[in-house]
Amino acid sequence: MSSSTGTTSILQYTPIDEIPKIREHLKATYNSGRLRPLEYRKQQLLRLIHLVEDNYARFEEPFKADLGRHTLEVTAGELNGIVMELMYLHDNFETWAQPQKPGFNLKFWAFGPVIKRVSKGVVLVVGPFNFPLLLTLSFLGAAIATGNACVIKMSELTPNVSAALTELLPKYLDQDLFRIVNGGIPETTAVLQLQWDHIVFTGSPSVARIVAAAAAKHLTPTTLELGGQCPVFCDPKMDMYLTARRLLWSKSLNAGQTCTVVNHIFVPYEAQDALAKAFVQVYNEFFPEGPEKAPISTLATDAAFKRIKELLEKTKGEVVCGGHELFGPILPIVPVKDFQDAIDWTNSHSHPLAVYAFTDDPNFKEYVFNNTHSGQFVVNDTNIQATIPTLPFGGVGESGYGMVKGQYIFDTLSHLRATCESPRFLDMIMGWRFPPYTDAKIKQA
Ligand code: NAD
Repeated sequence: MSSSTGTTSILQYTPIDEIPKIREHLKATYNSGRLRPLEYRKQQLLRLIHLVEDNYARFEEPFKADLGRHTLEVTAGELNGIVMELMYLHDNFETWAQPQKPGFNLKFWAFGPVIKRVSKGVVLVVGPFNFPLLLTLSFLGAAIATGNACVIKMSELTPNVSAALTELLPKYLDQDLFRIVNGGIPETTAVLQLQWDHIVFTGSPSVARIVAAAAAKHLTPTTLELGGQCPVFCDPKMDMYLTARRLLWSKSLNAGQTCTVVNHIFVPYEAQDALAKAFVQVYNEFFPEGPEKAPISTLATDAAFKRIKELLEKTKGEVVCGGHELFGPILPIVPVKDFQDAIDWTNSHSHPLAVYAFTDDPNFKEYVFNNTHSGQFVVNDTNIQATIPTLPFGGVGESGYGMVKGQYIFDTLSHLRATCESPRFLDMIMGWRFPPYTDAKIKQA
């Protein structure tokens, strides 16, 4: 859809020579202190909430055009989630922004130590295609709450959604502080050459390495929200209908293009047929006229479709579980002799973003939890952990680093500036620290 001239038919890419000027302009406004007052942050945050709330209908068509998204998924999976996160920030950020006294320590109380959460400067948010608004606007909201100016770099794979946001953002937010950059690799490369005060990147591990390397040149702190590869450990005693229903939902939502989607299911051989049967039943319930006629999301690009099709053709219905992220609507069932094999396999590959256990057995839950590593651990469901604003959200190892959501993203985008003030009377107690050093002073130290 894009051309080498830096445009799509729908979206004008940001001219590359404009990008440094945007950053300079935002930095100058940031330095002026305009965003320091909490009242102004609250006003801008509220305006961002209104941007989303006023435009549910406006975003419907762009999501359909870019991702084939059904209105239900746009509303529940994207827009409601943004409003919920922004409202949670709006209602709480003033409390989180208050100076905080560390625990009392008699030796140091006289210094009056206090932790102040201060802004960092200009934050860069680089977003993925699969939740183009949720994974940019929720971080923009956190930048506002923490008093940072912010540039959003949208994915080039969702030009209609980007065009809608590019049109709306200046109508709601202070353009001297919050801007969008549109474009593909050349534009993102130009963005990454600049010095930012924090980068929040959501995307694939391979591009994350490019982002981290660019950030390292400026020693810029980064938060990397990556994918995926989330396994399910399915207890053979589990209700297979409930399991199949929740897992097929996970694979249908956004055509399986979510970072927390189940990647494969480990189940003992003896329970494999029961699980497969339950999937057939649920599949027929979900798509009574076949998936072709169902108003479900589609894969975002022709390349993704080709990749998934080839994967299916290559495996000819056999199980695939090669350590790759599938990121699409196919779901391998992997029969195992015992769960230790599944644990060993999981631990010999990159750490997943989430590990899921489907079971009612407390011992099984504990066994899976204690023997695996992942960003999150969820029992009897998938994806929902990403909607709970009071929980931290982040990966481990190949699934990323740094924490987002609620108070965690507030701390991520704040600098915890340590402050203390030395009282005048201190010299009476600590006069021994000043030269000339003497034996008597060594005894007092
Ligand atoms: P991607 O890594 O291809 O692209 C992400 C962003 O990077 C886009 O804005 C894109 O323009 C830019 N980009 C792409 N190639 C680049 C390059 N060579 N140099 C500089 N910038 C470049 O990711 P995607 O396909 O848009 O999103 C899917 C991935 O995101 C999956 O791996 C998924 O698991 C992950 N994801 C993670 C989370 C999370 O919260 N952990 C959430 C959603 C998606």
